[in-house]
Amino acid sequence: MRFILITGGAGFIGSNFISFLLKKYQDISIVNLDKLTYAGELSNLKELEDNKNYTFVKGDICDVALVNELFKTHNFSGVIHFAAESHVDNSIANPDAFINTNVHGTFNLLNTAKNHWMDAPFSFKPGCENNRFHHISTDEVYGTLGKTGLFSEDTPYAPNSPYSASKASSDFIVRSYYHTYGMNVVTTNCSNNYGPKQHNEKLIPTIIRKAINGENIPIYGDGKNVRDWLYVEDHCSGIDLVYQKGRSGETYNIGGKNERDNLYIAHKICGLLDELRPKLSKYAEQITFVTDRPGHDFRYAIDASKIENELGWQAKENFETGIVKTVNWYLNKYENR
Ligand code: NAD
Repeated sequence: MRFILITGGAGFIGSNFISFLLKKYQDISIVNLDKLTYAGELSNLKELEDNKNYTFVKGDICDVALVNELFKTHNFSGVIHFAAESHVDNSIANPDAFINTNVHGTFNLLNTAKNHWMDAPFSFKPGCENNRFHHISTDEVYGTLGKTGLFSEDTPYAPNSPYSASKASSDFIVRSYYHTYGMNVVTTNCSNNYGPKQHNEKLIPTIIRKAINGENIPIYGDGKNVRDWLYVEDHCSGIDLVYQKGRSGETYNIGGKNERDNLYIAHKICGLLDELRPKLSKYAEQITFVTDRPGHDFRYAIDASKIENELGWQAKENFETGIVKTVNWYLNKYENR
């Protein structure tokens, strides 16, 4: 049995990933450490309640004693680290929590793993030679793109929000543990995820919820900001590949090759709702433009050729197929409350 510590597994991507992993592997046992902030939702993991290979621990990744205790109790061969404050809008109003969790929390996990797995720089304790720390990060660390170009693993970091700056800092700490201590680390930087179990505050759940509630659908600025949309299950398969086969010390970008602007997304969802839940007026009439947020990056897009060529990863969904599944999932959630 392989014991893996997953952090932030009650959130959007972490909960999808735990289900994905436990379905795929019978020899993996997971401890999910999550503080259950406003973004954590235990109901995301309902289907795992009786799974003997799954344990939930409520706690903070910044808690030095707790993380140390977990490493002592469970013989972790890996950490897959999702826990973060993840909403850019919140990082503008309240950056403190972002620095605490994303920077200090990542450091605490990494340092505890090092102390349990290594007895000196570049020297692993017996049996820990293949133990791996996988850090989940974002394409937002690269800053913003103009109308053309793609983020590759070599793009210089230029974070523009407290959120992306905190993630960039954590990426650098992870990198330093590879170069300084020889720790077995990998980092994945992904584009915007969408799919089931995302928090209500994020763009796509907001559009769907406001639309069916008959409320205004708020779109920042002129709606022309572009993101590279990645279906969450495709992200999970990419993380799994990198965790199992990625080269130590490397970073891998994961993106859906699905650049869409916010206005297109709102119209696409409204069009689907017109078919699925027809009413007298068109849902798109509810779209309204609101004042843009400060420091709103114009465009993100990922060159995923490294993970595709090196590890054979391919996204299965494009935005038009993934969004149908997503809209149906949220209709079920919002209409059955
Ligand atoms: P999320 O906000 O949905 O979930 C975060 C989870 O972390 C929650 O369950 C929360 O309770 C937990 N958490 C927060 N602070 C904690 C702490 N101090 N200790 C323990 N647990 C804590 O986030 P998500 O969208 O699932 O994102 C997961 C990871 O992926 C994050 O690291 C994020 O930066 C990265 N990422 C997300 C996206 C995206 O589109 N959602 C894109 C790129 C990268």
